[in-house]
Amino acid sequence: CPLGPALLFVKIGQEAAEGRRFYACSACRDRKDCNFFQWEDEKVSETRLAAREEYNRTHQPPRTHRQNVERYKEFVLLPLSKRRFCQECQQLLLPAEWEKHSDHQLLCGISAAQLRSPSQLLYPLENKKTNAQYLFAGRSCQFLLDLILDLGFRRVLSVGTPRLHEIIQSKASQEEDFRVRSLLLDIDFRYSQFYTEDEFCHYNMFNHHFFGGEAARETCRKFLCQDNGERVIMVTDPPFGGLVEALASSFKKLMAMWKESEAEDQDNQEMPMFWIFPYFFETRILEFFPSFRMMDYQVDYDNHALYKHGKTGRRQSPVRIFTNLTPSRIVLPVEEGYRFCAVCERYVSSGNRHCEMCNSCTSKDGRQWKHCVLCKKCVKPSWFHCNNCNCCALQNHACEKPDAGCFVCGKAGHKRSACPSLSHA
Ligand code: SAH
Ligand code: ZN
Ligand code: ZN
Ligand code: ZN
Ligand code: ZN
Repeated sequence: CPLGPALLFVKIGQEAAEGRRFYACSACRDRKDCNFFQWEDEKVSETRLAAREEYNRTHQPPRTHRQNVERYKEFVLLPLSKRRFCQECQQLLLPAEWEKHSDHQLLCGISAAQLRSPSQLLYPLENKKTNAQYLFAGRSCQFLLDLILDLGFRRVLSVGTPRLHEIIQSKASQEEDFRVRSLLLDIDFRYSQFYTEDEFCHYNMFNHHFFGGEAARETCRKFLCQDNGERVIMVTDPPFGGLVEALASSFKKLMAMWKESEAEDQDNQEMPMFWIFPYFFETRILEFFPSFRMMDYQVDYDNHALYKHGKTGRRQSPVRIFTNLTPSRIVLPVEEGYRFCAVCERYVSSGNRHCEMCNSCTSKDGRQWKHCVLCKKCVKPSWFHCNNCNCCALQNHACEKPDAGCFVCGKAGHKRSACPSLSHA
């Protein structure tokens, strides 16, 4: 499809235990955004293939990255009074194009500072099913940057983190002794108007597809492998509706790219990574990356009403940092209430108390959790032990029916996602 190779899914029906497999768009979870569909065993005719290729070709951005870079060069030579940005087309305009956009909303007098902060200039693409662009609040972005600097990193592969990329590149262009560099990989092609091919690659993180082909892939590989791959970290903040296994598969490929760097002493090492994602995906992420640990730091966002920081009276953010770096190295701000637990050897949120029975700081959401002796683990403060279900749950939950078996094979004891009769493709 226009977004690169499709992914193989399985449709689980009640009759066929194995389910029927089909290909669909990797990045759009809404058929309205991309309606690519093909059964796995379907024969596709030559004519249909050709039509598909033609469709994919015509559904690419109207200009290439190179053309956008050339336009940018022209744009910055213009005097301030001639620098216009079309808000409707989300595009920097050259004087010859003003005419065509005359009945559009324009921003005039685009300054150098504005050009250094494209994430402020462009409106966030919030459609949940595809881009889900939620920008870091200043507090969180600065925290990430300081952490990266304190840990001594020199290169940041920013995968779906345009705002982090932009503060790094902005500092690099203004402060002589600032030595950190960033490469942005993102599906939002609007950014190609502001960054060269060495700063931005049009990339799909659900299928590891570089829209710029081999040259773009090589840019990324070089960036990762420079200086024997030392002092590089990848930071990613994918859309939360995204499939964890698809993301994990792409991230493993990026890690493998880094591994190609020559250094021999990193044989058993992984590329350092921050994966920013909600805490309730912890089990899923650890399934794919057993070396990762979840940090208590609450990441918050500018344009997300729900995911803002608790300290200001708003709801607490469920978004966390997952990392393969030693947890004790991730120093969280004491002034925001985080403290160091000497037993767990990591920073935890203020409400997270160390449970003697579990021998760990067990809260996931920042509230203080309570230990249940019957479940032999800590649970949310709002939960109670239910003797019917033999586990803790909300007081007014509907008890699980004894006959509620697996949707695929009908047997009790597991859900369909864990059904042993499904081959793990
Ligand atoms: N908090 C980050 C932005 C995270 S929002 C920041 O402030 O920098 C998710 C980001 O992932 C967006 O920039 C979005 O354009 C990008 N994205 C969404 N789907 C993607 C995909 N399939 N491949 C690559 N990037 C994607
Ligand atoms: Zn502890
Ligand atoms: Zn406990
Ligand atoms: Zn219990
Ligand atoms: Zn119950």
